[in-house]
Amino acid sequence: MTAPAGERSVEGARVGGFSFEVGHVLPNGRGRTGVIHTPHGDIRTPAFVAVGTKATVKTVLPEAVAALGAQAVLANAYHLYLQPGSDIVDEAGGLAAFMNWPGPTFTDSGGFQVLSLGVGFKKVLAMDTAGLANDDVIAEGKQRLAHVDDDGVTFRSHLNGSLHRFTPEVSMRIQHELGADIMFAFDECTTLMNTRAYQEASLARTQAWAERCLRAHVALTKQRTHRPYQALFGVVQGAQYEDLRRKAARDLAALDVDGQLFDGYGLGGAFEKENLGTIVGWACEELPDDKPRHLLGISEPEDVFWAVEMGADTFDCVMPSRVARNAALYTRSGRVNITNARFKRDFNPVEADCDCYTCAHYTAAYLHHLFKAHEMLAFTLATIHNERFTVRLVDDIRASIEADDFDTFRAEFFGRYRLRTATAH
Ligand SMILES: [Zn+2]
Repeated sequence: MTAPAGERSVEGARVGGFSFEVGHVLPNGRGRTGVIHTPHGDIRTPAFVAVGTKATVKTVLPEAVAALGAQAVLANAYHLYLQPGSDIVDEAGGLAAFMNWPGPTFTDSGGFQVLSLGVGFKKVLAMDTAGLANDDVIAEGKQRLAHVDDDGVTFRSHLNGSLHRFTPEVSMRIQHELGADIMFAFDECTTLMNTRAYQEASLARTQAWAERCLRAHVALTKQRTHRPYQALFGVVQGAQYEDLRRKAARDLAALDVDGQLFDGYGLGGAFEKENLGTIVGWACEELPDDKPRHLLGISEPEDVFWAVEMGADTFDCVMPSRVARNAALYTRSGRVNITNARFKRDFNPVEADCDCYTCAHYTAAYLHHLFKAHEMLAFTLATIHNERFTVRLVDDIRASIEADDFDTFRAEFFGRYRLRTATAH
């Protein structure tokens, strides 16, 4: 890799080491390519970040995650705090060293997990109560395991029920110990179920927490000079309300603690699929163009294209690996279930023109057999394929922006992707 002119030296990277360069911009003035420089290497954007919640992309060797083209891995502060403990990861030399990952890492703040694990609101939201507003909805049979107040969140561990408390300062200490290149401010993740009044109160709380995170981050950065610089992203909440999203983005962009601003921005919260791109657009119009933007938790092709077009630079999502373990494989013609009988004697790769390790060495019939026989190798091979599919899709989107060919590429992609999906049902 050649360093662009003006690239920091390794020496310089210890002091700063984080920066973002905008490359090619789409005609709409929003979507763009770029490069995020971190102390552990560069991320060419747009980029898909593989999720390794507990410092592992489940069932896949870190070497294989790198080989399939993932440029960065995102782990979770809540999970690593509970197990093995962020102090252990710190002693190991930080997340990348601990998990033998050779590139950049992200951690999310734990805000989403402390509020969602055990509460089950996503299921409630998706299946049972669409259109209702309720600030206290929990899934049937579940106890609420978390309590939010203006200072932080008290919650019970989903592992053993023990009581814990996260505040902005605690989340920042944990994330500094985890040592990822990119961290996120601690926020309250609301649902689309919450009332407008609750969203307003929650957003005010999240903004106050953002300032406390930035303040704690400045102090920790001064204390921990033995570690490379860790960048902090503020998280834009505000649910589906345009005025709240725009205000949240403006306020975060203006936040300044002793000359330290956020290094980038996360776009968080629950999104209705049909207005995801619109919401990303509102936030990106208010955010500074010279900072990277990370959209938390999306990976479906239609979401990725729209989010990139509206200005998101990086994404993460558990779905490619989660659905892989459930025998669902992405192909450029749509998603297939490999346990389907039609694959029993299919001695071709899962996808003929896929360049992943799985498709280069194994047949669809073999994967079909592994899933049917409940062999663990099934999860590994399927995950490699799905992660590669998603990474490659975003790489291809990046190339299409650079070639001024984004709209054509999208039209071609969905011509094929929808065709098979439509005939499969
Ligand atoms: Zn493949």
